[in-house]
Amino acid sequence: MYHHVKQLMYNVKVGEPDVRFGRMLLEQFGGANGELAAAMQYTMQGWSCDDPERKDLLMDIGTEEISHLEVVGALIRMHLQPMKKALEDAEQDPLVAVAGGGGLNLYNSMGGPWTADYLKVSGELDVDLRSNIAAEARAKITYERLIHLTDDRESKDALQFLMTREITHMKAFSAALESLGKEPFSIGTLAPTAGLVNEYYNDSTGDGAEREPQWLKKNGLHIVKSPFSFRGRDSGLSVDGGESRTPAHSNTSSTTRKTA
Ligand code: MN
Ligand code: MN
Repeated sequence: MYHHVKQLMYNVKVGEPDVRFGRMLLEQFGGANGELAAAMQYTMQGWSCDDPERKDLLMDIGTEEISHLEVVGALIRMHLQPMKKALEDAEQDPLVAVAGGGGLNLYNSMGGPWTADYLKVSGELDVDLRSNIAAEARAKITYERLIHLTDDRESKDALQFLMTREITHMKAFSAALESLGKEPFSIGTLAPTAGLVNEYYNDSTGDGAEREPQWLKKNGLHIVKSPFSFRGRDSGLSVDGGESRTPAHSNTSSTTRKTA
């Protein structure tokens, strides 16, 4: 059940309306990483979740995202206000000004309509929680960029509030993922193929491609050289082991892949 409280989660004010900035804010309203996408992603996951405690978490955060949508919407309305009167402001976005009367609608900053294709809902709780952690990271960085793009103190303060809440959500989703007690890299029920799972393919040739960074030799990984190598500047690519018809991944003990 949903209930409307006639109060914003954060009291929005705008010093100087800026139509161009209002358009940019639409990215957090009807954009791919915006508040409606977050609200719908977590709510859809929550409605499908069989785990009562994590279901509550998904529903709580999904509900808060709708409150964020309301705050962003209020901010956008204030910034788009001049569009209702002045031609040069209306010209900034005829779709919003003429079709929408300077009000809100579910478009991104470039007028692309919101779509359910933005949502990541896999039906596997730990996989969904990973998607949500990534979604919060994208929301955070988008707010950070918006904060850098305005000089309006009040707008910055509202965006700072929203940006902060996304890190709170990131912490909560991370806590939920950890609470499931799954082994690292354990996804679903089928085990990955032993040996193959630890082969990192160096698929680059050219300057610096021979580097083998130590940080990559973690989690059991080892680096497997590219089957391609340069033999001098003019001779172009040559294929090491190109005559073999052995499937590329059949010999797990080799450190150089054969081409199929
Ligand atoms: Mn949010
Ligand atoms: Mn969030």
